[in-house]
This record gives sequence, structure tokens and C-alpha cells, in this order.
Amino acid sequence: MLPSRVVVAGINYEIKEVDGLAEEHNLGGQILYEKGIIKIDSSMCKDKKEQVLVHEILHSIFNEAGYNEQDEDMVNRLGIVLYQVFKDNNLHFGEIEEVEEVSFYDGVSVNERK
Ligand SMILES: [Zn+2]
Repeated sequence: MLPSRVVVAGINYEIKEVDGLAEEHNLGGQILYEKGIIKIDSSMCKDKKEQVLVHEILHSIFNEAGYNEQDEDMVNRLGIVLYQVFKDNNLHFGEIEEVEEVSFYDGVSVNERK
């Protein structure tokens, strides 16, 4: 399950799973900096959604850090490796707010429990 929001440099980004992003626009994800929205295509598998979310978060990090001209290839490469490092080392910082999110870190999907 994806988080519902992420805060980057004080900007609150709402994370929305949307239909048709991949099929109609050939995008797995999209970030709208001014609106504070990250869209993730709903048709992708869980791992791909998470990987794309990390990619979009990286875009927001670079944007907030003042990199207005971003190298898509670099963001792609860094996002893939960053996702792998966090996932394979089970890295998590801070408190987990909701019970559903705890189940994610146990490796059991929320849907399996319901
Ligand atoms: Zn990108």
C-alpha cells in the first residue's frame, strides 16, 4: 500500500493512484509541483508503484533543492537504486502512523488480511 502523502522540504504532496496514466500518456507516474500532487498509475504491480513513487519523490527533492533542469536519465537510475537499497535493507525512519502500514512492513498485504 502506498502512503497517502509525503512531505518534501515542507511541501505536502498528496499521492493519488489514477487510471490511464500509463496507457494514455505512457507514464508510470507524474508529479505536479505547484499543486502538490504525485500521481501513480493504478494498473502497475505493487513493487512498480513503489519504485515509481521513489522516482517522483526524487524529482521533488531535486526541484526543492533548486535543480529546475532535471536529468531524467539520472533521476531514473538513482530512483531505481534508491528504492532497491531501502527495500532490501528494510530501511524505515520515523514512526509508522497506521496499523495498515505496519502490515506492509511485515510483508503481508492489507488486502490479504481483509
Ligand atoms: Zn521522471
